[in-house]
Amino acid sequence: MAQRYVRVQSTDGQVFYGLLQLDRQVRVLDAPPWLKGQPTDLELMPDAYQLLAPCAPSKIVAVGKNYANHAAEMGTPVPAEPLLFLKPSTCVISTEAAIQYPPQAERVDYEGELALVIGERCVNCTPEQAHSKIWGYTIANDVTARDLQRKDGQWTRAKGFDTFCPLGPWIVRELNPGAKVQTFLNDAAEPVQSAPISDMVFSPDVLVAYISQVMTLLPGDVILTGTPEGVGAMQIGDRVKVAIEGIGHLDNYLVARS
Ligand code: MG
Repeated sequence: MAQRYVRVQSTDGQVFYGLLQLDRQVRVLDAPPWLKGQPTDLELMPDAYQLLAPCAPSKIVAVGKNYANHAAEMGTPVPAEPLLFLKPSTCVISTEAAIQYPPQAERVDYEGELALVIGERCVNCTPEQAHSKIWGYTIANDVTARDLQRKDGQWTRAKGFDTFCPLGPWIVRELNPGAKVQTFLNDAAEPVQSAPISDMVFSPDVLVAYISQVMTLLPGDVILTGTPEGVGAMQIGDRVKVAIEGIGHLDNYLVARS
């Protein structure tokens, strides 16, 4: 199994980056791994930590309609260039955390996505240069208040609510290009979304290069690469799982926002 890079909070409240071992103990690193963090002598037992989202991005840059079949289901063409939007860093939650259904919304959708984690400052990169700036891969759910997205005509409110970016559970360095992203609701065996990441219109290297022509990407920043077809609504009480072969699965549930 690939090395799994985690971020955890210990029971005494300290936050660490670490390596998740097969026995679920965490070997603590002295810095984020993309900043050359090295293993320390500290090891956390499974009951002595909680998983956090695996990085703490300064920003989340997301891409709309990056799978042709999803653009079609939204009744729109595939964009000629990547279509960018931002999610605030405050919407990030970890695996097993609650997505809060906001009272302003009448329809809240899942969007299972591959997330890229940037390892190095990235400005004005070519796709070839951008490749080496992608430190690793994790899983995201680009939760969207679909009715508000349509009503507002732009996406800041619809995609920016607190808890609307489940991220994790960990980061891996390598990914098979044929790996599928799949989304499951509740106990269903059949996924509601399933597509190989190779179906993306714009590849990760092209996306990172394109974004770096606009804004500086910093270590720990996250890129959401778009969702395949099959988006749909979630209800309060639902559980949602996004899985990517070679990474694992990101599990969350919905509660009413109080
Ligand atoms: Mg999306």
